[in-house]
Amino acid sequence: MPIYIVLLGPPGAGKGTQAQIISKTFDLPHISSGAIFRDNLKRKTQLGMLAKEYMDRGELVPDDVTNSMIRNRLEQEDCAKGALLDGYPRTPAQAQALSDMLQEMHAKVNAVPNIKVSEEVLIERLAGRWTCRAEGHVYHEKYNPPRTPGICDLDGSELYQRDDDKAETVKNRIQVYFQQTMPLIDYYRQAGNLIEVDGAKSIDQVGEELIAALRKAVL
Ligand code: ADP
Ligand code: AMP
Repeated sequence: MPIYIVLLGPPGAGKGTQAQIISKTFDLPHISSGAIFRDNLKRKTQLGMLAKEYMDRGELVPDDVTNSMIRNRLEQEDCAKGALLDGYPRTPAQAQALSDMLQEMHAKVNAVPNIKVSEEVLIERLAGRWTCRAEGHVYHEKYNPPRTPGICDLDGSELYQRDDDKAETVKNRIQVYFQQTMPLIDYYRQAGNLIEVDGAKSIDQVGEELIAALRKAVL
């Protein structure tokens, strides 16, 4: 049976960081909606140009655009065994759309880790985040520095600071999370899928807790 895991948590909680570990452990493709938008922007596709307007303001890309992008991705062959979703769904309408898509594939969301971190910590994490140009691997100047400053350990590409990690945009992104994404915690709690994780601990500790809880939930 395929396994679908949804990673919930505010921007900067550590979803992308933990996704790298989880996707290896469970051999699942890591699907980051934000990374797909950024890749489209890099290639200057129509989708990328449209998404940019929203991303620059720290707002969400409209549901219909985001849902059809994810549907296309989930229909690719590597997702037959399931997927690890990071940053999607982000609104109740997206959660409903995901549920419908998976139902069509005779599958369902199996587990939803919710990574909890205080707002103060989020701001510090986003301010120090460095992202790799080639693959989107994530570092932090203090908590997870690369071996050589400015260079990705994994593929040698340049590291950059995301435009939307600027303090002004970050504030709006966190507000948008509170207003539009937080209701999903209750949605998945009621569905019996939610796994609460304390995201304030070190990257390794959070990773160990997550893997242990996920093994129990999905294996
Ligand atoms: P998200 O995908 O949820 O937006 P990221 O995984 O990109 O978050 O993490 C945001 C920043 O915080 C990155 O710079 C990352 O290296 C750092 N980070 C992630 N998890 C932790 C942690 N547990 N402790 C300290 N820093 C962390
Ligand atoms: P992220 O990489 O998850 O921090 O996302 C970066 C930006 O991409 C967000 O601030 C949104 O503008 C956009 N985005 C990512 N995922 C979604 C989504 N599920 N729905 C709408 N917009 C999204």
